[in-house]
Amino acid sequence: MRINENVYLFEKIRGANSYLYISDDNDVSIIDTGMPGNAEKILSQILKIGISIEKIKYIILTHSDIDHMGSVADLKNITGAKVAIHENEAPYLLGEKNKKRKGIIGLIFGILFKFIKTQNIAPDIILKEGDFIGGLRVVSSPGHTVGSISLYNAGTVLFSGDAIITDRHSNIKGFNTIATADLFEAAKTISKIKHLEFEVLLPGHGKPVLEKASDKLKKYNKI
Ligand SMILES: [Zn+2]
Repeated sequence: MRINENVYLFEKIRGANSYLYISDDNDVSIIDTGMPGNAEKILSQILKIGISIEKIKYIILTHSDIDHMGSVADLKNITGAKVAIHENEAPYLLGEKNKKRKGIIGLIFGILFKFIKTQNIAPDIILKEGDFIGGLRVVSSPGHTVGSISLYNAGTVLFSGDAIITDRHSNIKGFNTIATADLFEAAKTISKIKHLEFEVLLPGHGKPVLEKASDKLKKYNKI
């Protein structure tokens, strides 16, 4: 689905939202990949848009949860694109560390990891606060996970990963409290993002906010 001239939201992806971002300099990036098994769906939609596979330069992960990184290994193998993730999240992508989650979410993630094979993968690019990649600025957004990021282009877009999610009517829902590792950090991240200006919000889950998104976020006070 075309969001605007720079952004597409892939359709029928299992797991988290997966996006295509085309920068003003024509750098092409995939942002998040959904669960394992989505690579073909993503690539066929990119071809339909009229972009050839070798044009895909980066696969940027907002964090390393399976519903966001599930198809990254397949996509990297096919496209040769460079995989980028925040420095604090890289050990989880590599499989050097496992996230410890409490309660019901811990249980669900435990079961997912047992039954769904994830391929550990070495990132090609390690990101930190303020870096630029594919025409987007890295905004460190810890809370949901320790190395979560948002990706920002001033005045136009913010890809928020799971730092800010929405419902199916594009209403901002803050973050999912039961799936968040550190609630205090997650609330601080939202306060930080409230200082940014963007027209369109592209969340990890839920429907994008297409107009005046940063104004709507500023009015959000349920945290
Ligand atoms: Zn998620």
